[in-house]
Amino acid sequence: MSEHPSSKKAIVIGAGIAGLASAIRLQVMGFDVTVYEKNSYPGGKLSHFEMDGYQFDAGPSLFTRPQLIEELFTLAKEPMEQYFAYERVPVACHYFYQDGTLIKAYADRQQFAAEIQAKTGEPEENIKAYLHDSANAYEHIAGIFLKYTLHRLSTLFKAPIAGALRYLKLPYLFKTLHQYNQSKFRSPKLVQLFNRYATYNGSNPYKAPAMLSLIPHLEHNEGTFYPKGGMISITNALVALAEKKGVKFVFDSPVEKIIRANNQVKGVVVNGENIYANLVVSNMDVYFTYQQLLNEPLNAAKVLKQERSSSAFIFYWGINKSFEQLSLHNIFFSEQYEAEFDSLFHTRQAFPDPTVYINITSKCEPGIQAPSGKENWFVMVNAPANKGQDWASIQDFYRKAILKKLNAILGEDIAQYIEVEEVLSPVTIETKTASYMGSLYGTSSNSKMAAFMRHPNFSNTIKGLYFVGGSVHPGGGIPLCLSSAAIMSDLVKADVV
Ligand code: FAD
Repeated sequence: MSEHPSSKKAIVIGAGIAGLASAIRLQVMGFDVTVYEKNSYPGGKLSHFEMDGYQFDAGPSLFTRPQLIEELFTLAKEPMEQYFAYERVPVACHYFYQDGTLIKAYADRQQFAAEIQAKTGEPEENIKAYLHDSANAYEHIAGIFLKYTLHRLSTLFKAPIAGALRYLKLPYLFKTLHQYNQSKFRSPKLVQLFNRYATYNGSNPYKAPAMLSLIPHLEHNEGTFYPKGGMISITNALVALAEKKGVKFVFDSPVEKIIRANNQVKGVVVNGENIYANLVVSNMDVYFTYQQLLNEPLNAAKVLKQERSSSAFIFYWGINKSFEQLSLHNIFFSEQYEAEFDSLFHTRQAFPDPTVYINITSKCEPGIQAPSGKENWFVMVNAPANKGQDWASIQDFYRKAILKKLNAILGEDIAQYIEVEEVLSPVTIETKTASYMGSLYGTSSNSKMAAFMRHPNFSNTIKGLYFVGGSVHPGGGIPLCLSSAAIMSDLVKADVV
């Protein structure tokens, strides 16, 4: 291939959700886009596997902000309904506490507030006021953070900052999420429930700023959704859309190096071959992009100034029974929540009473996601980021701790129903998706300035090089990764087009 490509050629490194969205956006802008993916399949963390008739989404299970997927189809002028369907879920989550309390988080705000008052005594008004503030904060403050790069004044000055300042409350900056929730609720059960939202980007509610109280807006005001066919249908729909628009995918092809000359990106090296392009977008973890593709260990080390997000241990269980009391999303809380986070981020050891999350897509599609009368359980506990711990023994430790908790609350010996089992650990998360330390969400928000510390979506030193995905601005999770691709394409418009 020519060293000076005549048409506008773009290369995307990695077919994670942000890589897919980037490829679609750039192709629609007129670039000739090729995606190189090291795995034999697309989606990165958003992938899927099947075991004996049980379907399993390997990573993400909570789907919010479907309008961000819709936006890609609108942009590409393709009818989304021919590729992708989803429905709103009536109950966001079942929350189980050790004392036997079960709180159903109804999508309907009034029903949710009434459920909380009935189960905890917390006045309905407190819930409604909290969610009202959460909506304001999301719409006016998060809007800036999610739509603009925070690292370039020329674009930031276009953001509606004056409007945002009206909604900025001092506690958002100076309290932790836990302190903020304590000031809003009387019931410790509710404080714990709303503290949990810090884990949506792998953070510690006892350290992360109260600004994260805007996250519940997504679940309780906008709603949670189930994509027909499971989460993998998001990946499949975006790959189909990208291909329809002319994007080329090359699988089993790890990019080995980013080529540059005179501070300008020139292309990449794949399978020992130079592939030239005018623009390169890395969806690889930014730490590994610097370390492995740019050979810049000092810049890689700078990325680590911000604490990595937590990781996870997942057991995929094919369960030979149906459990009435469970729904699509279920949480079994730890009784020692603060100590659990201390073990995740401080001692970095496995915790004996972990909070357990179970996702069961066969609740939405019985007989399809699992054989009739059976259930596909995705059982996850938060785990410390990989620092070389003894994961083989930790796996055994977590399995026992999870079963002990579930047996006590569900009143059954769960192990007898496990027909098939697979496991994902922080180490396999790291090797499968090149996510440094197996972090789920790149970096954590465990500091007041976290939002400003994430790596920008562009390179300061190499023209034509951009970054997207969970390890860069605005952060991890599907909605934020999709936003990173939108911010990147705005930057490209300003820089190149
Ligand atoms: P990734 O998914 O990290 O993919 C990067 C891709 O780049 C991979 O395919 C990798 O193989 C490829 N790659 C890396 N290096 C190279 C190279 N050198 N050459 C070519 N290809 C390369 N988010 C939610 O919104 N909701 C959830 O419920 C949720 N739960 C989660 C549960 C788990 C277990 C995990 C692991 C994550 C979860 N997340 C959730 C987070 C979410 O999955 C991620 O933030 C998001 O999918 C990351 O997408 P990404 O675009 O950054 O890329």
